[in-house]
Amino acid sequence: MILPLASGVFAPVAPSDRPVCWAVTGRLGGYSVGEFSQGNIAPHVGDDPLATSRNLNSLAALVGVKETDLALMQAAHGSSIARVHGAGTFPGVDSLITDRAEVGLVAMGADCAPLIFCAFRAGDTPLISAVHCGWKGIVSGVVEATIVELRERGATHIRSVVGPAICGACYSSSTDRREMIRSSTQREVAEAVLRAPGGIDVREGVIAQLRIARIEPVVVGGCTYGNPETLFSYRRETRTGRQGIVVAMREFQVPA
Ligand SMILES: [Zn+2]
Repeated sequence: MILPLASGVFAPVAPSDRPVCWAVTGRLGGYSVGEFSQGNIAPHVGDDPLATSRNLNSLAALVGVKETDLALMQAAHGSSIARVHGAGTFPGVDSLITDRAEVGLVAMGADCAPLIFCAFRAGDTPLISAVHCGWKGIVSGVVEATIVELRERGATHIRSVVGPAICGACYSSSTDRREMIRSSTQREVAEAVLRAPGGIDVREGVIAQLRIARIEPVVVGGCTYGNPETLFSYRRETRTGRQGIVVAMREFQVPA
């Protein structure tokens, strides 16, 4: 089984709420071998489909659902959001949102930052979301777009968990790309992303975007590039697996 780097539950705050379970994974545990060893959860990277399926089943179990309950993204490095009512694979989006229980939303990464949201609403079922964000996602504002939608749909208390991503010291980048980030994001976000000389730190940018929105995230895992034993990194290995994050709302309702 996949060993989570961390997992937890956001406990309900009102009778209409449901508990929201989340887990962040890395390489360890799981059934994949070779460059995908062990915990690859991505079906699109060339891994043995049976091993990937078993890993996805194990990922689902971490939040109390089944593989057939998972909603996956084919990320597009943009800011499009899919409103999800059940399991499936959703192409061309970097954010999934649902108000349904027993659906597991998954975001994957191998240097890009995977994150989730749990948004409690007064007198209504919570919303949950999973988001994939790389440097293009920082520029296109996928995290902000997701927060805007959660608040437009009545979110009052928003929690977030951010998984592992490559750090600024390990991700050197062109001046052009750094300039694009500087010119298209708020000053605090650009400063966070570009703090390392010549580098891009996507996760620090995501955290800065969350804090601007008054959300203090739980941050799990270290630099993907710098931890080859425990984390997949595309920039380090190219042919490699994906770790990720999963979130699911459970059916259980707090007695009124
Ligand atoms: Zn690093």
